[in-house]
Amino acid sequence: GAGLMAGKRGLIMGVANDRSIAWGIAKAIHAQGGQLAFTYLGEALEKRVRPLAAEVGTPDSLILPCDVSEMASIDAVFDALKAEWGTIDFVVHAIAYSDKEELKGRYVDTSPENFNQSLFISCFSFTAVAKRAEALMPNGGSLVTLSYYGAEKVMPHYNVMGVAKAALEASVRYLAVDLGKNDIRVNAISAGPIKTLAASAIGDFRLILKWNEYNSPLKRNVSTDDVGGAGLYLCSDLSRGVSGEVHHVDSGYHVVGMKAADAPDI
Ligand code: NAD
Repeated sequence: GAGLMAGKRGLIMGVANDRSIAWGIAKAIHAQGGQLAFTYLGEALEKRVRPLAAEVGTPDSLILPCDVSEMASIDAVFDALKAEWGTIDFVVHAIAYSDKEELKGRYVDTSPENFNQSLFISCFSFTAVAKRAEALMPNGGSLVTLSYYGAEKVMPHYNVMGVAKAALEASVRYLAVDLGKNDIRVNAISAGPIKTLAASAIGDFRLILKWNEYNSPLKRNVSTDDVGGAGLYLCSDLSRGVSGEVHHVDSGYHVVGMKAADAPDI
């Protein structure tokens, strides 16, 4: 086949529906000839993920259940990939979780239980996935995760998720060094705000969207297709010299130090 991703096979984790960032990346990779496997969390989402995966030519045997809070569940996914494909070329990890009740109010009120669960699912799971992916990447590969500006600066209501994303971005750097010897690259995309299922858990999300639209250099919000283009680049050989990077796909918002003079009051 033709295309940047011809001959490459990989795993997409984190599609919940057609508004998911993972789906934007999946479509971009598929359009360039890549073959895809998918994971889904739970039966309710399975009903949404199966038809989407079928749209990009994924056989039933490569649409797999996975709850990343269970190591056995991650093992089962990589066992299935090994049985079906032997080796893989890329993994996209687009997974995060926090109790919605703690994505409002003050960070200082985070409970120990939600801290542990949020950091485990939103950060450690990427490390657990990387370890298993490495075993299926004898000739190198690319691992990509999703982060947010709340890792770097305090964003309203992002709270424990900001701390989890900071840990995730640090783990990208450690993993890049650990796996670089085997030509496995590890990078994150720091996406601007997008209205997805996960985002709906964040307090005042509409205000954050407006703020980014008015104050970013491009004066617009990003789409899952915008993030898809960056995901394609990071999974493809075009980015072969890139590892340990946090690549912002946020209309440039992260470079701005002051509210735009012409931004309306919101
Ligand atoms: P989404 O709701 O479409 O995707 C989140 C996914 O995480 C879902 O598919 C969900 O099933 C999965 N998930 C949660 N807990 C899991 C578990 N225990 N095991 C397996 N899967 C689990 O929302 P999205 O916005 O596309 O989120 C994808 C990633 O992008 C997340 O890491 C999110 O933090 C990040 N991100 C989102 C935005 C945004 O504004 N939407 C911005 C920057 C980064």
